[in-house]
Amino acid sequence: MAACTHLNQVFITQLPPTVDGCEDCLLTGDPWLHLRICLECGHVGCCDGSPNRHATAHAHSAGHPIIRSLEPGEVWSWCYVDEVAMHIPEVRGQTRIPPSPLGG
Ligand SMILES: [Zn+2]
Ligand SMILES: [Zn+2]
Ligand SMILES: [Zn+2]
Repeated sequence: MAACTHLNQVFITQLPPTVDGCEDCLLTGDPWLHLRICLECGHVGCCDGSPNRHATAHAHSAGHPIIRSLEPGEVWSWCYVDEVAMHIPEVRGQTRIPPSPLGG
């Protein structure tokens, strides 16, 4: 099983108490499905099931490898470079998120 070698690029170890939604969708008025946060810079984007896939777009454009789910009850992270899912116990907190505009 592959291991992630990018944990030294995790700078967000305390999740925000609340977010308004996908930053990029809010700018354009688009709907999102699920929310992910970039653990390098804190960018909040939408999942690959969303029309615009902003979390993945951010990872590629910014070169930031690891996201974490912000969905209630989900604690998994994902490294785009190693393509491995993991739990990073150093990342703490729980984020209140608004309901998905797509009802998911
Ligand atoms: Zn990695
Ligand atoms: Zn989005
Ligand atoms: Zn980032």
